[in-house]
Amino acid sequence: MSIQEILDHIHLEMSRRDNRGQVASYIPELASVDLNRFGLAVAMADGQVYSVGDADVPFSIQSISKVFTLALALGKVGNKLWERVGREPSGNAFNSILQLEHEQGIPRNPFINAGAIVVTDVILASSSPAEALAELVSFIRYAADDSNIYINDAVALSEKQTGHRNFALAHFLRSFDNLDHAPELTLGTYFHQCAIEMSCRQLALAGRFLINASGMPQLIAPGRVRRINALMITCGHYDGSGDFAYRVGLPGKSGVGGGILVTVPGKASIAVWSPGLTPLGNSLLGAEAVQMLAQQAEWSIFG
Ligand code: GLN
Repeated sequence: MSIQEILDHIHLEMSRRDNRGQVASYIPELASVDLNRFGLAVAMADGQVYSVGDADVPFSIQSISKVFTLALALGKVGNKLWERVGREPSGNAFNSILQLEHEQGIPRNPFINAGAIVVTDVILASSSPAEALAELVSFIRYAADDSNIYINDAVALSEKQTGHRNFALAHFLRSFDNLDHAPELTLGTYFHQCAIEMSCRQLALAGRFLINASGMPQLIAPGRVRRINALMITCGHYDGSGDFAYRVGLPGKSGVGGGILVTVPGKASIAVWSPGLTPLGNSLLGAEAVQMLAQQAEWSIFG
């Protein structure tokens, strides 16, 4: 079967599913997204894109933004980042505060909220929030080769008004001296990075900076690409990371907007969007769709 035939088959399968999970309702702006949306795009190393369903409809990338901010933070401070954030799976919910006290304000990894807030704080050391966000959006546009990528201010505001958990995390980090800026400032930036909107096509194209394919322009060092992928497979789905690695066999990063970015090292980048989530906050049908794709295209990194 060709990639396009595989995608068409997956689209049909997913359109028949009754259980589509639940949209994230703790961010009011996301609660109104249509549960029946489904998009899937595969960008090959050479830029050829295969897609199906709502692959051109922009959605809120939310925590998928954390792979881009991690790349920028590593570019700015290198391995010093690891003095402030760990590299272990958390085994806890993405917004958990539990571990942070035990581990003296050092978040387990850069993809849980506490860790991502520290990563954003690192980026703010050398820029204002507006500059940091402009740099982030430019990086993403360049990676996607598409200038039509924006932040949805209404989503950022909606999260700011209801983000008590993230404010608690930021203040807690600050109490352990692991936040250099005022919680309002770092979180203002964090909420805006999460509110970036991209379609599956744009996200799949942008994700190619993480596949280390030969002949492609390198946005970041190949060694860093390998390490970000290692973190994606171990931590990219929070306390669902083991299950995703077991079922799909590829590095992935999910967001509560229902998107997942998945890399096929050396070959392709995949973006899927289905807004209904599992109780762990990962796209239910998104994971099923990439599981089918990885199996049918024989793309597991484990052979
Ligand atoms: N902006 C969301 C939050 O901080 C991102 C969470 C996610 O996508 N897992 O709660």
